[in-house]
Amino acid sequence: MSFDHIHPQSKGGNTSFENVCLACRSCNEYKSDLTEAQDPLTGEIVPLFNPRAQQWSEYFAWSLDATRVEGQTPVGRAMIAALRMNNPVILATRSRWVISGWHPPTIQ
Ligand SMILES: [Zn+2]
Repeated sequence: MSFDHIHPQSKGGNTSFENVCLACRSCNEYKSDLTEAQDPLTGEIVPLFNPRAQQWSEYFAWSLDATRVEGQTPVGRAMIAALRMNNPVILATRSRWVISGWHPPTIQ
């Protein structure tokens, strides 16, 4: 895991509890300095999900086999697309986590 600045430092974000969260390396690098992204369903540009201010389960859900994260709102769908949260590498990894009983998480 790496530290992600929710509001990027390059855009004035500070290093504080409210503005930092843990993110996997892949998500962090795809997020880069993004603060908004396009909902692939509606085309709407929306702010990215803020894990300090918003509840994960209101925006995302796991697929039945728990390998894919599915957006429940424009923000959720935009975040998944922008951060490529269902890329082939993470899908294969999640499949192994499911088999091992490590995934999906029970607390969200
Ligand atoms: Zn990630």
